[in-house]
Amino acid sequence: MRRVWQMFTAFCSRNRTYFSNNQQQVAENNLRMLWAALWVLLVFLAVYGVWTTSTIRYLPLAVCYVVICAIVSALLLVTHFFRNHRPKPWLIQASCMACVCTLMGFVIVISVFPFPQDPAIFYPLGYIVVASLFNFSYQRIMLLMSVISIVYLIIVNMFRPPEMIYLDQFSGVTTWIVTSLFLLLLSDLRLRNGETLLLLEKVSQTDSLTGLPNRRGAHVYMSTSFSHCQQKGLPIAAMMIDVDHFKEYNDLLGHQAGDSCLVSIGQILQDFSRKYSLLASRYGGEEFLILLPDVAEKDARQLSEELLERVRQQAITTPNGIVTISIGTAVCCPGQEDTISDLIHQADEALYRSKANGRNQATIVVQPAPPFQSQRM
Ligand code: GH3
Ligand code: MG
Ligand code: MG
Repeated sequence: MRRVWQMFTAFCSRNRTYFSNNQQQVAENNLRMLWAALWVLLVFLAVYGVWTTSTIRYLPLAVCYVVICAIVSALLLVTHFFRNHRPKPWLIQASCMACVCTLMGFVIVISVFPFPQDPAIFYPLGYIVVASLFNFSYQRIMLLMSVISIVYLIIVNMFRPPEMIYLDQFSGVTTWIVTSLFLLLLSDLRLRNGETLLLLEKVSQTDSLTGLPNRRGAHVYMSTSFSHCQQKGLPIAAMMIDVDHFKEYNDLLGHQAGDSCLVSIGQILQDFSRKYSLLASRYGGEEFLILLPDVAEKDARQLSEELLERVRQQAITTPNGIVTISIGTAVCCPGQEDTISDLIHQADEALYRSKANGRNQATIVVQPAPPFQSQRM
């Protein structure tokens, strides 16, 4: 029993961590589900409306039907707005909860009122389907569904004929228990799936040798950072780094030693980027790229020199001396038409100039732009 409780609390804490770290992604998936669910519901309501007008003549049901149709239409409009305007995650989650409450309200009404002498057959089915529609943390959805169960039991006590109350209470409580267990399994599956996808994403964006982001990972965060500087009118620099005579290093000391050398250089770049809140990546082979948001020419020059010095000071020895790097740094104040690829291309050209001028040095190129001042250093 204690072990089951430990497993349950561990599951709840994994749930909390996952949902707080991935609010945006979870909300986007739920928004897609909400859009589809509302359309399906609208079609269902249309069919139900046609069917009930010809078979059931019951005024409260008709009123409730009109109210539910109005709420669903409003939710549909809100969802349409959300799809075009990307709101905060909590707003999407709140709309999904509103959808759950609306659906359950409808399910309760059609289960309890039109056929007072029959058992509430729509309720258990609707309850399980609605509870499993959206991806909420287990604690949150169970809290919501428990409140709905209590409301249902109160309505049953108030409005159902006495001979039906016992049966409906029994089915209401049984449905709550079955759904709790079912949702536990479903939430666990969703959680594992989400965690696996996150892990895959991380692995696909990380270089296994140095632990730095690889080219794919670099492009994800670099595009975001570049757009940020573009919008705010901040300068940005890209530093392309290449290990000098690395083929020779491999040829003289072997590929394993070459790998260790790349790990050491990766570590230097990691420490350097952490110190100045920069974004380093292994761009390919023995080439690395560092993005320097909000860094202007003077600071970019100073940082390039500091990095050259750090690698020299590491003194990774080769039979011909120590390992050095060459750097090409491009700085710009990005306009609307500029792209991150242009900046990287310029940094690459600057790197070739460092190589041509004798290696172990940095070349800075500045894109013609209005004067700007970095606030970073
Ligand atoms: P330069 O100074 O002009 O940059 O000369 P270089 O020898 O460094 O450049 P070149 O492009 O000729 O050679 C790069 C070498 O880097 C060749 C390749 O075997 C080596 N290399 C690329 N990736 C790795 C790796 O992951 N591990 C090891 N050990 N070597 C690698
Ligand atoms: Mg190279
Ligand atoms: Mg090289």
